[in-house]
Amino acid sequence: MSRRFNISFVILIIAVLISSTAFSQGVLNKILDNGPNNKRINIVFLGDGYTSAQQSQFDADALGFLNYLFTIEPFDNYENYYNAYTIFIASNAAGVDHPATGVYKDTYFNGTFDSYGITRLTTIPPNNFDGSYANGMGKVMNLLATHLPDYDMVILLFNDLEYGGSGGSISISSVHSSATEIVAHEVGHSFGNLADEYDYPGGSAREAPNATAQTTRELIRWNHWILPSTPVPTPETSPYFNLIGLFEGAVYNPTGWYRPKYSCKMQSLGVPFCSVCSEQLIKSEYSYLSPLESYSPVNNVITIPANSSQIFEIIPMYPTFNSLDIQWYLDMAPLSGENSETLEMSLNDVNWGNHTISVEVSDNTSLVINDPSNLLMDSFSWNAYFEAADTDNDGFTDDIDNCPEIPNPGQDNADFDALGDLCDPYCCAIAGDANNDYNVNILDVVFLITFKYKGGLEPNCLYEGDANTDTSIDILDIVYLISFKYKGGPPPGCL
Ligand SMILES: [Zn+2]
Repeated sequence: MSRRFNISFVILIIAVLISSTAFSQGVLNKILDNGPNNKRINIVFLGDGYTSAQQSQFDADALGFLNYLFTIEPFDNYENYYNAYTIFIASNAAGVDHPATGVYKDTYFNGTFDSYGITRLTTIPPNNFDGSYANGMGKVMNLLATHLPDYDMVILLFNDLEYGGSGGSISISSVHSSATEIVAHEVGHSFGNLADEYDYPGGSAREAPNATAQTTRELIRWNHWILPSTPVPTPETSPYFNLIGLFEGAVYNPTGWYRPKYSCKMQSLGVPFCSVCSEQLIKSEYSYLSPLESYSPVNNVITIPANSSQIFEIIPMYPTFNSLDIQWYLDMAPLSGENSETLEMSLNDVNWGNHTISVEVSDNTSLVINDPSNLLMDSFSWNAYFEAADTDNDGFTDDIDNCPEIPNPGQDNADFDALGDLCDPYCCAIAGDANNDYNVNILDVVFLITFKYKGGLEPNCLYEGDANTDTSIDILDIVYLISFKYKGGPPPGCL
């Protein structure tokens, strides 16, 4: 009894230790589930300044940001491409630091406003207040490594109502009602490698998908979006406000650097991403995942028995507003009308033997008009061996048969007859034609006698010499042929 009690007690202690350990290291919660992580882009929200009693508020805040992101083009078309998680970690106090007004809070990531002298600039260490990586970013990285090593996008929410945010390897935002727009802009940086399109100081100029110093039309990286009638550089006048052009003022420089559109979310919050930025964001999505989510058979080398058919199937990704284009191929040639998610193939559709079955899937969204790396397309191929049937019902499958269904005489094992001999294309076309001269006469009798008894050549196709179809060539075949030609006997046969 006492021993059993001790074991139970130990188990209880272990259970308490495990649960308290899990709590101190954060709690993972999936708030958007569209599929396996390796087939999706995984967004993770962290929070600073949420007390242990505020876990549900944190999840609600994260969901609010997430839902907002999916109202913005192009993300609205691709919600199905994402999973989202929260990792909750409690802080001792609610809110974060505001050093400029002497407000300090004991929070898990030591988050703060007023970074580097800018009130709305939100950061965690290392920063100008606390140089220790371990006090901020180090904790973020530890939590990600523990709970979601395959994260793709990190958003840290400050439980603080003052307006503020920042970008970088992770996006940080307060929960101010307008902060959702900051997150969308920061996601443009961290996820799309987009540059700031505004011209006031804030960083270093750089060439980017949406910023350039290039003014030669043909060399502008978004030239494919610029109408021939639009001048470059483009005047900042109303006829051009809604067009893509080359507008001066970008990446912290009022002159010498250019942006694609008069206004864009990478310049001003509250306006949509421009076409150039949208295109780039969609390409970024497809650099994380394939438009072809899964396929079956999973093995790309398969054998299909003669009496059955094979269903090839794919599951494409599903954007919200447009479908994906699907095309199936047989031996690299497109199969007309085969554009659905399944393809059924059997010997009714192909000759026996090896064939390549392949499928191509692509996103035809009008938001991407230039995709030289084919990021929006993917394909898969199967090497399928269709086993041979016995088409002429002679007891031999077509691959060892010697009869006219041979597709490639002299090229493959179809040209071996059932006795294992190499046949010619006419083999068995004329039963009894042992010398293969396309006639059945006394010369075939002579040929067989020479073969059997004088060391002569064997019939080119043994079947043609096997006149009585007993699968051997001997005196009986000679007798059979003489009987046929000269005594009104039955004609030679062929297996
Ligand atoms: Zn833009």
